[in-house]
Amino acid sequence: MKNHLFSLPLLLLLFTTSSEKKSSVSNSPKKTFASAALATATIDVASKNPIAVSAATILSRKQIPILCYHQIRDWKATDSKRAKDYIVPVNVFKEQMKMLADNGYHSILPDQLYDYLANGTPLPEKSFMLTFDDTDLGQYSVAFPELKKYNFKAVYFIMTVSLNRPNYMSKTQVKELSDAGNVIGSHTWDHHNVKQYKGKDWETQIDKPTKQLETITGKPIRYFAYPFGLWNQQAIPELKKRNFNAAFQLITKRDDQDPLYTIRRMIVPGYWSLSTLQKSMTQNF
Ligand SMILES: [Zn+2]
Repeated sequence: MKNHLFSLPLLLLLFTTSSEKKSSVSNSPKKTFASAALATATIDVASKNPIAVSAATILSRKQIPILCYHQIRDWKATDSKRAKDYIVPVNVFKEQMKMLADNGYHSILPDQLYDYLANGTPLPEKSFMLTFDDTDLGQYSVAFPELKKYNFKAVYFIMTVSLNRPNYMSKTQVKELSDAGNVIGSHTWDHHNVKQYKGKDWETQIDKPTKQLETITGKPIRYFAYPFGLWNQQAIPELKKRNFNAAFQLITKRDDQDPLYTIRRMIVPGYWSLSTLQKSMTQNF
């Protein structure tokens, strides 16, 4: 794993180090992503924190269904029942996307969700969000072309240790997803539980991987997904300090003080029927 990390070109490592400070806008990669952000109009390069709206107001707004996927591939005989929570067969996934499109669902992205939750900016009817965790290759090879059919966009939360490894996405593929209008989010270096971070862990698991993703995409990375969905209140100021606008967990209760850093998502298990999916999208959010 270390070998993988250190196989990055020296230039990339230098940039990663030199861009630790938010204010270093003078080097060219930063300029690239500053202009990329300008091109996307209303999205600030600067962090959206702190916000004026109260936590109670955010909590009072109706939640938007957010789906969380991991592997999109056909089951193997060796896949356990538990594993199938995280493996959606190719045709099942395709049927799910078709069902959502046929029923008039609109995919939204995190900046839209943020503007809705924090500022009350209205969203289209039947808005939902698609998120993919852990960098699995099927998210690019199967899900991405399927989403394109319906003009759905998604968030890909990348665990950077896996980049360019077999059965995982490459840096080039992540860049392609980003260039196509999808959002790349941070999901740590190697999936360690945030609740256990001490000392240099924040740098290893959050700072360096996030900078690497910014280098790959040429865009600021403003959204984070907790590995295993696990979070605690101590993690939230650390994420704010690092200019994340929001963070995504799984289906547990949101934090009373910081609902934007505990946004709920629902894993879609591989054995759900279309009607179970649709019902869960209404009942769980
Ligand atoms: Zn994960």
